[in-house]
Amino acid sequence: MNQKQIEIAIEHYLENWGWKRMDLKAAMFDMDGVLFDSMKNHAKCWHETMAHFGMDLPEWEAYMHEGRTGAGTINLVSMRERGHEASEEEIERIYRYKSDLFNLCPKAERMPGACELLVKVKESGVVPMVVTGSGQVTLLERLNRNFPEIFREELMVTAFDVKYGKPNPEPYLMGMEKFRKWEGSHDGNGEKWAANNFIVVENAPLGVQAGVAAGVFTIAVNTGPLPDDALLSQGANLLFHSMQELCDEWENFYQMFPYFLK
Ligand code: MG
Repeated sequence: MNQKQIEIAIEHYLENWGWKRMDLKAAMFDMDGVLFDSMKNHAKCWHETMAHFGMDLPEWEAYMHEGRTGAGTINLVSMRERGHEASEEEIERIYRYKSDLFNLCPKAERMPGACELLVKVKESGVVPMVVTGSGQVTLLERLNRNFPEIFREELMVTAFDVKYGKPNPEPYLMGMEKFRKWEGSHDGNGEKWAANNFIVVENAPLGVQAGVAAGVFTIAVNTGPLPDDALLSQGANLLFHSMQELCDEWENFYQMFPYFLK
């Protein structure tokens, strides 16, 4: 990625949303497929579960549904494969089967480059945040163990915080709101931070959709098997092919700010 491509992406973003400038205060990171290499296990378990219940959900397709609720995914596949939605009771049975399989999988490793990137982000003075649809109770403990001294609990959005989840912009809007409150409690300046002071880092088409709908500059990292266009077509402002690549380019990206529309 060269400087010109980054500049064009920022120009497009500003023109599109009618902002005159962009500055960076916080970076909102999705978790599965961004910070942890956990999507392979999810995709495999979805495939095996649906096969067990007589339906076909190829592993690659599971990546297209990443971010959807379990019930949403099950109904979508059920409609296609059987022509009707699944009953409440069936959804519960199918989802429990998938969760049990997933819990048997080895714990996902950190995504290569993620830790190094988070350290760089923090050192640049940009606040790293997590915005995830995951609802594991041990989330913060796990994040702190894998990424020491990076995240704050009051700056995390999880399944417990939201009603709709991605692709609804709600989780990212809530992330910005949490940041404003937190920043406001420090210097009373929280209110002045708007969408043009944030970035989103996402690996899933529905996650990119959520970040874009929240009006935030959205960086896609294509860490899975989908074609780049699956992410670009959802409006991603920039695309990298791995967290390591984004990490290697961080200085080039960050040095653009504050950026004023030409
Ligand atoms: Mg993800």
